[in-house]
Amino acid sequence: MMKYISVAIDGPAGAGKSSVSKAAAQKIGYTYIDTGAMYRAMALFGIENNINLESEKEKLVSMLDDVDIEIRYIDDSQRVFLNGIDVSQSIRQEMVSVGASNVAVIPQVREKLVELQRKMAKSDNVIMDGRDICSYVLPNADVKIFLTASSDARAKRRYDELTAKGIECEFEKIKADMEYRDKNDSQRTVAPLKKADDATLIDTTDFDFDESVEAVLTLIRKRVEEVENAL
Ligand code: C5P
Repeated sequence: MMKYISVAIDGPAGAGKSSVSKAAAQKIGYTYIDTGAMYRAMALFGIENNINLESEKEKLVSMLDDVDIEIRYIDDSQRVFLNGIDVSQSIRQEMVSVGASNVAVIPQVREKLVELQRKMAKSDNVIMDGRDICSYVLPNADVKIFLTASSDARAKRRYDELTAKGIECEFEKIKADMEYRDKNDSQRTVAPLKKADDATLIDTTDFDFDESVEAVLTLIRKRVEEVENAL
């Protein structure tokens, strides 16, 4: 039986997880799975249905059966569908980032999305990124990485990323939102953001993009060789 390799990457907002994971996956021909996009789609559903995601969590829970989130790959790029509609672009708004962090504390939301994530990792070589992938979603992943950077560096990257896309934003607001999310994500009782004991820490504060990708790939190659030797 063929063994599929799974790479789990966790870390705080703006550490470059998504872009680094995507580039690394492309280089080695693995499928990239962005789990944050699923929480974002869930938040967008709430926003579109006028649910206050901080104070009306039960309302969202009562509507969970009406939410269908699907990841499809079109021309090698991941697209996120919410009830059949491609929302890949609209989930990147700053309002949705904060909303995602609010819906991510709801156990029923996590249960639904984790099930989808595990299913996707079963039938492919994958790089999956998020907050709880090493510790909870894929505890048996072959490679586990905690990718981080200082909060200034992270806010700066997010700012540059949004500005490059033509999205208007303010650095101070981005940094404040990021710190709000860091706090929310690390202090929640359900699946808090935390480096798993067996994950390797990669701090990219002083790395440029290519160096970050290379650091991740070096680790993956080393582990894959060990896994193959053990077969
Ligand atoms: O990674 P991204 O910034 O797109 O994630 C948006 C939000 O979704 C995070 O701030 C976090 O609250 C939540 N999330 C999560 N668990 C994951 C991925 C994302 O709680 N595995």
